[in-house]
Formats: sequence, C-alpha cells, structure tokens
Amino acid sequence: MNTVQIKAFGTETSTEDLKQLFINRREVTAKDVEIDILFCGVCHSDLHTARNEWGGTIYPNVPGHEIIGRITKVGSNVSKFRVGDLAGVGCMVDSCRECESCKEGLEQYCENGNTLTYNSPEKHLNQQTFGGYSERVVVDEDFVLHIPETLDLAATAPLLCAGITTWSPLKHWNVGPDMKVGIVGIGGLGHMGVKFAKAMGAHVVVITTSASKADDAKRLGADEIILSTDKEQMKNNTGTLHFILDCVSAQHDINAYLRLLKRDGSLAIVGAPEHPLPVAAFSLIPGRKSFAGSTIGGIKETQEMLDFCGQHNIVSDIELIPMQDINRAYERLLNGDVKYRFVIDMESLKN
Ligand code: NAP
Ligand code: ZN
Ligand code: ZN
Repeated sequence: MNTVQIKAFGTETSTEDLKQLFINRREVTAKDVEIDILFCGVCHSDLHTARNEWGGTIYPNVPGHEIIGRITKVGSNVSKFRVGDLAGVGCMVDSCRECESCKEGLEQYCENGNTLTYNSPEKHLNQQTFGGYSERVVVDEDFVLHIPETLDLAATAPLLCAGITTWSPLKHWNVGPDMKVGIVGIGGLGHMGVKFAKAMGAHVVVITTSASKADDAKRLGADEIILSTDKEQMKNNTGTLHFILDCVSAQHDINAYLRLLKRDGSLAIVGAPEHPLPVAAFSLIPGRKSFAGSTIGGIKETQEMLDFCGQHNIVSDIELIPMQDINRAYERLLNGDVKYRFVIDMESLKN
C-alpha cells in the first residue's frame, strides 16, 4: 500500500515532551477520504495515553481525537463526502461492523475491538494509528462526521469527543425536565455536560473543586454550584440528585459523590483516572443506587449530537493554542487550569 509522509506532533516515550516528528499515512482507498486538519481539541485522554497512564501505549504516539478539517481527496467508492466538505473525526476510525453492538450503531462497544483514532492497530498498514496532532488524516467515510457550516470550527472540534462522551450518557439515563443532574469536574467533558444537561431541560448542579469556576458555571448553564472541597456544602446536598455524570480525570472519593444521589439514582463515570477508585458497598445499598460507566458514543449518535449543536448553536468554550504550546497545555490540564478546552490551530504545525 502506498503511503505519504506528513508532519505530526507526538512522543517517543512516556516521559518525554511531545515534539515534531514524521509519520506515514496510507493513500486513500476506495472508501476513504483524506482530511486536511484545521483544528484538533486536546482531550485529557491524549495526556493519559502519551504518558502511558492506562498502560498499552505504543510509541511513537501521536494523540488527538477531536478533529475538524476539510476533505481534500475522496476514494472511488465514497458517496457521503465531496472534496471541499467540512469533516469531523472523533475517537474511532473503524470497527468490526458485524457484532451485535456494531449492528445497533454502538461501535464504541464493538465486541471485536474497534479501531481507535490513535494507539490502535492500523488495518491497512503494519503500524499503529496516529491521531489528529498532524497535518492530515485518512479515514473510512463511514467513520467521518458531517459538520454544520454555521458553527465556529475551532470551538466545534471538542464536540467530537468531549461532546459525544457527555451527550451519550445524558441521553441513555433519560436526562430531561424534572430531573436534578449533577456534573462533576468542569473541564473539557464537564463543561459540555453542563451545556447539554441544560439544553435537555434538567436542573443542573455543578460539583467542582475550583471556586474560581463558579461564575463560569452559571454562564454555562448551572442552576446551582457545590464546592466539593467544602464538607458542609456536600452534607447539605445529601440525597438531592437523580443522576450524576462524573467527568474527573484524577483520583477522587467516589463515595462522597454517591451520597448526593437520591434513592434509585445513578452515578455514571466517564472520567478515567489512572488508578482504581474504591467504592464502599454501603454507598450503594441504602438507597438502591447504581454506579455505572459510559464511553464516547456511536457514529449515528455523534451525528445527531452535532446536528443538535448546529440547530441550537452549541459549541465548546475554548482556548486556541499553537501546536508548539502542547506540553504547557498538558501541565495546565493537570492543574485543572483549563477554560474549558484547549484546541490546537493546526496551521501552526504546517508552517
Ligand atoms: P480535563 O479537561 O482535564 O477536566 C478534568 C476536571 O476534573 C478538572 O478540570 C477538574 O474540574 C476535575 N478534577 C481534576 N482533578 C480532580 C480531583 N483530584 N478531584 C476532583 N476533581 C478533579 O479532562 P477531560 O478532557 O474533560 O477528561 C476528563 C476525564 O474523562 C479524563 O480522565 C479522560 O481521559 C476521560 N475521558 C473519558 C472518555 C470516555 O469515553 N469515557 C472520553 C473522553 C475523556 P474542577 O476544577 O471543576 O474540579
Ligand atoms: Zn477524548
Ligand atoms: Zn463490532
């Protein structure tokens, strides 16, 4: 298979900073499109993977799975996109397409293992997949999203992961009017969770460790704010929430948040800290509570979310950075110092 060498940003080991390197992309096959990347969001999963916090990172690693760009080439059998179209790519670039989950449009739960945008085996080449911190990407059209032309493109990039990862569980747990919904951790995922829960009609309660985010939380759509470091505030809100979405990237006491649920309430975790989180049986037994998880969303559901955002003009709150600032952005992510998603202007890599 023919390949093309392009510029990217990535890392050779778990302990080194990210730097410019060269990678190979396949030439478009019949069902592929080639996308010139304009913007790529910076997800905390990029950092977890670059530093091998979940194990299994193959180096070199090129992160990035919140990709927005324009189509520059289409394969001979491509029917959904034309050259010049806007296009989005999220966390997956392929799946088995045959298992029960794939057939239900839940490719994120593919039982034979889907192909992630980075750090998965590349089906056509003898190498791993490389993400969006790069000039271009080649993807099967079935895993490419249509982007509403009306939205700010840089601020739309984070919808491809942070957006769908919060949208999907809010839909699955039927969030809507008459529900009090807690969103824990107001970073990239959490701030989208607040916007979506509000748009779905819920009463939204932000639960944050950062007093400095309180004013923003109201602007994002929060009806109430709980400072989780204040024991009194946490105690006063015991048993008040129907559903909690936990978007925290680091170690935290899950039992303290389970206490906020009403009887029969559910806490779904999407945050993926490096180490296990101990859960006390007695955080769940009295009150018949559920502790659940969720990952990204299927392609069909991602398109529905993007169309909804187009109709309601919902995008992320972002800080645009050049590619060369990525290592500093990672340090700021670790300090919770993000308002509320870093997005890379990919022009900075091409120059
Ligand atoms: P992020 O922007 O860094 O936000 C994480 C937020 O968590 C911080 O802003 C902070 O919010 C809160 N936080 C940090 N340390 C904390 C601590 N020790 N205790 C309590 N709260 C703390 O990260 P992100 O990109 O939104 O990603 C969040 C997590 O979701 C990551 O682990 C990521 O890998 C994971 N993720 C999972 C999926 C999935 O499919 N399940 C998809 C994408 C990302 P406050 O300042 O408000 O406290
Ligand atoms: Zn992500
Ligand atoms: Zn499958």
